[in-house]
Amino acid sequence: MEDIKVLDNDYIAHTYGRFNVFINKGKGSLCYDENGKEYIDLGSGIAVNSFGICDDEWKNAVIEQLDKVSHTSNLYYSCPQAKLAKMLCERTGMKKVFFANSGAEANECAIKVARKYSSDKYGEGRSTIITLVNSFHGRTITTLSATGQDVFHKHFGPFTEGFKFAHAGDKDEINALVKEGGVCGIMIELVQGEGGVIPLDKAYVDEIVRLCKENDIILIVDEVQTGNGRTGKLYAFENFGIKPDVFTTAKGLAGGLPFGACVMGEKTQDVLGKGDHGSTFGGNPICAAGALSILSRIDDELLKGVTERSELIKKKLGAVPEVESVTGLGLMLGVSVKGVAAADIVNKAIEKGCIPLTAKTKVRLLPALNIPVPVLEKGLDLLIEAIKECVAAK
Ligand SMILES: *Cc1c(COP(=O)(O)O)cnc(C)c1O
Repeated sequence: MEDIKVLDNDYIAHTYGRFNVFINKGKGSLCYDENGKEYIDLGSGIAVNSFGICDDEWKNAVIEQLDKVSHTSNLYYSCPQAKLAKMLCERTGMKKVFFANSGAEANECAIKVARKYSSDKYGEGRSTIITLVNSFHGRTITTLSATGQDVFHKHFGPFTEGFKFAHAGDKDEINALVKEGGVCGIMIELVQGEGGVIPLDKAYVDEIVRLCKENDIILIVDEVQTGNGRTGKLYAFENFGIKPDVFTTAKGLAGGLPFGACVMGEKTQDVLGKGDHGSTFGGNPICAAGALSILSRIDDELLKGVTERSELIKKKLGAVPEVESVTGLGLMLGVSVKGVAAADIVNKAIEKGCIPLTAKTKVRLLPALNIPVPVLEKGLDLLIEAIKECVAAK
């Protein structure tokens, strides 16, 4: 076999700082490199493989659809797409869905919805969207513009205009930004993922809800990472007792297939009309069938299991003296270890046979929602060894 790492380096654009592991195959929460070495997967492809790698039930649903029809245009009706939209709406109290292929595209749609809602009702010019400092909303030019991190605002300009950034937790600042006028939307992650697994404060979220309500501002919750059971609820906004005007999701929605959704509520359901938006692949039947399988299995029992596993991780890592803090909700957790780079810990963990992720300075854990408890415990033991060795070596 040709050396995959050499081919990769020679022919693939160097946009990723890859960790030194080639995942050749996997099943559930276990995966294997080219030499058959086993790893415990604590990242599930960045919260994508909701039920682990190549889960049987999901695989069967996808294959069944492959045998019927693999692609139709959005010019025609499609079965799994319609059923999935119904399920998404019924389970969230929302009204309409637009299907996309990714998180960034779902967010693009949400931004369009907020702006068009405002342009329909108030005319042009009321187009500002407030997002949070340290947020992450995607890699297209517009979602980069929406991302509240300066490192993303270089090289690719001119960027899309009309975004303002507020510091999470600062109620006065966001009030002042709204007072400046022209605001049509506020877009937030309820747990900032790429920014370091930081949940928003409930009182701050309530203030945003109030501001949106009083000023007819569209509240967009970016559930690309937090959605689909990840935080112990079907969608994270349930943890906060709020209801957005629009929410977006992607990553874990189709359990390993590229898929995204922009889900609109009462106020925004009719904003997009014929020709206002579209996608060739969005809502693809294979992906929709995968998503239908995933979503139908995220029930109360599964969610209870997510919360139990979360408690287990917090308890186990909380007892490690080298661990400073564990933040996050459900199976979206950030582990802070003082004085050691998160990437060093991940490299060490991979050597030992488990694969966590990083988020800024933290080690990030996003295991499959159904990771078997003994596998999780073994993975955590390996991670703890890695943490201790890294701290001891510094
Ligand atoms: C990953 C992520 C995105 C971007 O999703 P893609 O599918 O990579 O386009 C957007 N928002 C949040 C919160 C994310 O975690």
